[in-house]
This record gives sequence, structure tokens and C-alpha cells, in this order.
Amino acid sequence: MMLSKISVILLWEFCVASHDSISQYDYVIAGAGTAGLLLASILSEDPNVNVLVLEAGFDSRKEANVTDPERRGLYDNGTGGSQYVPRGKTIGGTSAMNWMIHNEDSRVQLDIWESVLNLTGWNWESISTAFRESETMYAPPTDLADDLPYDASLHGGTGPIASTFQRSVYTLYSQYVSPTLESRGFTPTHDGNDGNANGPNFLPFAIYPFNYTRSYAGSVYTTVEYRPNLEVRTNCQVTGISWASTGANATASGLRYVPADGSTNQTTQVASREVVISAGAIQSPQILELSGIGDPNILQAVGITPVVNLSNVGTSLRDPPMTNYWPIQFKINGSMKLTGNESIQNFIDLEPASKILSPADYNAASSWLNSTSAIPGLADAQLAVFKELWYTDQPLIEFAWQYQTANVTPYCLVPLSQGTVHINSSDPMHPPAINPNYNVVNATINGTVVQWDMWFLAKAAQYYTKLLATTAPMSSIVISTVPDYKLPFEEWYEDIFQQTGSSQHLTGGNPMLEREAGGVVDTELKVYGTNNVRVVDGSVFPYQPSAHPMGVTYALAVRAARIFQAGKSTKTTSLPSSNASANATATFPVGGSESGNGSSITTGVPASYTGGANLVGFEKLGWAMFGGFVFAISQFV
Ligand SMILES: Cc1cc2nc3c(=O)[nH]c(=O)nc-3n(C[C@H](O)[C@H](O)[C@H](O)COP(=O)(O)OP(=O)(O)OC[C@H]3O[C@@H](n4cnc5c(N)ncnc54)[C@H](O)[C@@H]3O)c2cc1C
Repeated sequence: MMLSKISVILLWEFCVASHDSISQYDYVIAGAGTAGLLLASILSEDPNVNVLVLEAGFDSRKEANVTDPERRGLYDNGTGGSQYVPRGKTIGGTSAMNWMIHNEDSRVQLDIWESVLNLTGWNWESISTAFRESETMYAPPTDLADDLPYDASLHGGTGPIASTFQRSVYTLYSQYVSPTLESRGFTPTHDGNDGNANGPNFLPFAIYPFNYTRSYAGSVYTTVEYRPNLEVRTNCQVTGISWASTGANATASGLRYVPADGSTNQTTQVASREVVISAGAIQSPQILELSGIGDPNILQAVGITPVVNLSNVGTSLRDPPMTNYWPIQFKINGSMKLTGNESIQNFIDLEPASKILSPADYNAASSWLNSTSAIPGLADAQLAVFKELWYTDQPLIEFAWQYQTANVTPYCLVPLSQGTVHINSSDPMHPPAINPNYNVVNATINGTVVQWDMWFLAKAAQYYTKLLATTAPMSSIVISTVPDYKLPFEEWYEDIFQQTGSSQHLTGGNPMLEREAGGVVDTELKVYGTNNVRVVDGSVFPYQPSAHPMGVTYALAVRAARIFQAGKSTKTTSLPSSNASANATATFPVGGSESGNGSSITTGVPASYTGGANLVGFEKLGWAMFGGFVFAISQFV
């Protein structure tokens, strides 16, 4: 291809590092996203370690649509049986455009990694320690302290990601929803990082309170980009791993990439001792397959010579269903005065099955689970985990109250249906086929065959909606609900089904599990059959976290860095801080500029404000591919 003058300039500007040329890096990382960029920031603490990060997107760190928390993402509804699978394509990856909810799983959930899945060293202690190492949490302003239970000892005080609570509390949640649930025996509001994630809690956001901007992998990078041993190249799409040797254990010599904007198809090679793939749940499996790691049948079908026979690549992809096309609405008596002047709220209720199914439904579902020892398409390890979560009362359904509205979004946290993501072309610019396989697991409940994930979600949603609409004090202000909780279940199910889509919380694709159990990476994040290829991102979660995945992804990056550093005996230091003094109280700017007390802020958010993914601009910042509702169809837009 002939290079135009403009594309030569672009190539120079975006693909050539300003740092001195290095012939071989210690680490080259594919993807400057949530995990990749935090990992790079930690590894480069040691000035003797050279780190290069290759990012397909551009640098958007100065754009208000990234930094301003009020412009957090709006789900894209998709059309006609397909939907977008948005992820951030920019410095910071998806942490640059997500909803910033920053929470942890329960103790039991994280201990399962080690106790049920044999992932030695991965448990509550190690993962929550890494989570806290990544965090600086700010206490709520004193006048909000009663509504926002917070325990400083459960949070980090010096990490690079700042967390803080919302700036005001909508009284519908504190005075009606929360007391209603408590009166029915639900776990009272508490700090959800205490090892029991159950209950309705105001969860923190990854926001830096003093200037009220997004705290994310991109802002961490800003604090360390001066380092001469850390280099990030944007507009560089990794097309595969280069191999120094193949055979029983393949050894990578580096990565190769092309400009992501298509200005040229010229390939650049970079040499590195270690290769880390951090391109997220969709593209990390794609890069492995393009490099010859995967199921030989899939690779050979598109003309790629297998290097490592690992058919687990691209499996166990999960996209939990969420009723976000149109949430459930509570129609509130118009004379009610509800206050709380902040548009974005974060009242997130995580519940175990035993609490949000009727006793009859819970018993019927438990009896199906008891009698089920294998499910087609689901690894036995995943079924074992699900049973453990079910019987130990771990969170399996979430009810998200996220705006200053009486709307709630139910979310099936741990779906049994598992999907796949595979290449269907050897062209690295061709998007992989994403097949989320929604709702394919059947269950027999009381003699009737149902589609499990949606049945569970719809049953839980109806039980919860009815409970709130009919129990005081909430019942005193609710006129009706949409859909009407009194509908026969079949009609209710149909409405909920139509309102349900992607949670945008895709994880899996390269699960960390024993190889025979369906794994792609081992407990040191190393890809089976290789000497020096690692994966560090949400694709390695062995099962779907109940926590929103960002916080666990940061914890993963911290832990990965510590594992790599221990293996190489490189220097470890403390993480870059978020400029905080430990356990400081959040002070928010008034009107966007001055310091002041958060609870009295008027944000200036227009009444018609609807959110932000459209404002973030997926064309520029997002990978927009379609995932078929049932069929694998994918394409760039
Ligand atoms: C709309 C939305 C809202 C969300 N809200 C929340 C929330 O509030 N809380 C929460 O916990 N989670 C949330 N999530 C999920 C969470 O943000 C993600 O699970 C997490 O950020 C994924 O991190 P990652 O490191 O796996 O991937 P990413 O952060 O997506 O990083 C992957 C990076 O790799 C780059 N890349 C991909 N392919 C290539 C290639 N070939 N070459 C070079 N670079 C490449 C990408 O451009 C990207 O920068 C949300 C997700 C979405 C989409």
C-alpha cells in the first residue's frame, strides 16, 4: 500500500515512541486497558524494567466525556436480535467509559477460586488484599455518614484508584426501599467490602472526589507517564505473537502490530522477554488464536498453523442477562416529596436465591440443582461453583437502582449459559464471532422445562417487585408497577424477557482453571503450552464475579504484577498513590470548581440528561461489535 503524506505523519505521531528506542523490552503488553495499563504502571516502578504497551485506540484522557462522571455510559439497546458489545478502545480501555461502580465479591465467593477450583493462592485474602492495594477510599461527608455505612479498615488508603460514595442520597432508597427490605429480613445496608456482599448497599464509584473526575487506568497512567522505562503506543493494533521457538513449550519473542486506523498495513515487530495479552474478554482470545494458540480445527479452517493445541481458548464467555432495555418502574404517589439532588445514584442490592425466590420456587429450583450432575455446554467446574454459590447463599441476583428515579434493573449475576468467541478469519482486522449463547441451559422445575437464566431472573424480579409494592413503608407510596407485578407469571416473563439484554459485563474466554477443567492460563496467568505468554484481564476470571468486574480486574492486575515480580526477583515498591492522604474524607467541588460539602451540591445536570455512552462516542472510543442474541454474528460498525 502506498503511504500518503498524512498517513506517514499519523504513523509517526501515534506509532513511534517518544522514548529512546529499545531493542528488547522486559514486558510488552497488548492493550492499555483496565488491567493492562495498571499492570504496566506497577511493573515500571522498577526503573530497571522496561515496559511497552500497545493500544489499538487513541488517547482520550483529556475528553470531558471520559473524565466527567455525570456522563457515564448508557446501554445501547441494539436491534433485531443483535446488540452491540461495547468496550473502551482508548487509553484506559473500558475503565474509561464504564459506570465506575467499584465493589468486591464476598469472602466465600473468592475462597471458591482456591477451595473448589484448585487455584492455589487465589482466595479472599489474596484477592481482596490486591483490591485494597489498588484503592484509595474516601469517607463520605459527615452529613451523609448515616446513610452511607463505611468502614475504613475494609478499604485501601494509598492505592492509585480513588473511590468515593455518591454526592447525595435519594430518599426513596434510604427512607423507603431500604427499611422495607430490612423489615422483611434482608441484610441491612452495610459496607459491602466486609466479606458479605449481600444486601442493599450504596456502592462506591471510582471517582476522584476533589475535582469530581473519573479515576481509572488512564488517570493512573497520567501519574507515571514521565517514567523513561514505560512507553505506551496508541493506534497500534496487535495482530499476533511472534515465536522464537515452537514445540512442547512455545517461547514468544514479542508482538507484532499494525496501525489500527488502517492508514497502512505495515507490520511492526517488537521484541520482549515476556508477552502479556490484556486486550479484554473478546480480543484476548482473538489474539491467542491469531497466534496459533487454540483449537486446531478452528485455526486450520482459516489457514492458521497451530502452535499450541488448546481448545479451551475462546470458551466459557459469559454475558449475564440484565433487564436494562427498560427497567421495572414503581409509580410513586405524586404528592411524595423525595429529595437527593444528584442524578447518578448507586444503590445496588445483591441477593442470594433463598431471599429473592418464593419458598416454593426456591425449593423447586434447589431440587433441580440437586439432581443435576452435568449440563451440556457447561464445564463441570462451573456447575460445581454455581451449586456452592447457591447453597452458601451468595449473591446471584442484583437489583440496581442507579438514578434519581423509582426504577430498578434486575440482573442475573452468574448465568449458567456460556458462550464462545472465536476467529472466523485469519485477517486480524476482521472481528471475531461472538456467540453469547444466551439462555440455552434448560432446567426442569416442577416437571416443566424452563430456560434457566431467564426463568430465575424473571421469578426473582416478580418476587422482589411484589414484595416492595406490598410491604410498608414502600407500599404507602407505590401506586402501581410496570410491568404489573400481579400479572400471571407467563405474561410477566414475556415482558421481562423483552426488556432484558446484555449487562456489558462480559468475562471469560481464557479462564484460569486447571487445563483438564477447561483452563487457558495457570495460576501464574501463563498460557498452557507456552514459556512466556500471559493473559491479564477479565478474560481469565474462572467464573462470573458477582461484583461488577472492574474492581476485581484491578485486583487481578495488582496480583499479576506481584507474581511476575516475584518470579523475576525484580524490585517491588508501593503503588503510585491517587494523591490522597489515607482515609481522607471526600470533599466535592461546588459547581465543578470550588471545594465544598458534597451533600449540598447542585450538579447542573440537565433534567433531560440520559447518560453517556452515546456521549462518549463509541465510534471513537469503543470497539462496537455485534453479538448475536442466539447466533454468532459479528461485524465492525
Ligand atoms: C458500558 C459499560 C459499563 C460498565 N460499568 C461497569 C461498572 O460500573 N463497574 C464495573 O465494575 N464494571 C463495569 N463494566 C465492566 C468493566 O468495565 C470491564 O469488565 C473491565 O473494564 C474490563 O477490563 P479489561 O482489562 O478486561 O479490558 P479493557 O478495559 O476493555 O481493556 C482492553 C484494552 O485492549 C485494547 N485492545 C483490544 N484489542 C487490541 C489489539 N488487538 N491490540 C491492541 N489493543 C487492543 C482495547 O482497546 C482496550 O484498551 C462496564 C462495562 C461496560 C461496557
